[in-house]
Amino acid sequence: MPSRPVRSRDELGFWEGADRHQLVIQRCADCGARRHPPVPMCGACGSVSSDYEASSGRGRVLSWMLSHHPNRPEDPPTVVILVELEEGVRVVSNLVDPPGPGPYEDLPVEVDFADQDDAVIPMFRASP
Ligand SMILES: [Zn+2]
Repeated sequence: MPSRPVRSRDELGFWEGADRHQLVIQRCADCGARRHPPVPMCGACGSVSSDYEASSGRGRVLSWMLSHHPNRPEDPPTVVILVELEEGVRVVSNLVDPPGPGPYEDLPVEVDFADQDDAVIPMFRASP
């Protein structure tokens, strides 16, 4: 059973970026406020115009948990992380190749792209 994420119209730009192995952040075309996950309207100014900008892909782990309920039953437990990117937006993702058993708070991480089934999923690993 494929675990391809559902691509809502609002998130299309995000997933098209992932397909290019680029982490992109939605940005209000009027006031410049960044937001994630992508939504139709800017929470800061109410504009419905937006575009995407490339993220550096670097950030820090704010919070994490070990999930014993992965998408596919045969998969090992995964480390789910809340990352604050350098651009100031927060992204929920997975930590791949965790450096030890944790804790991972404040760990510098950078994006890495996992080709899963027919989708490219942005994940993070510890920065070298
Ligand atoms: Zn705005």
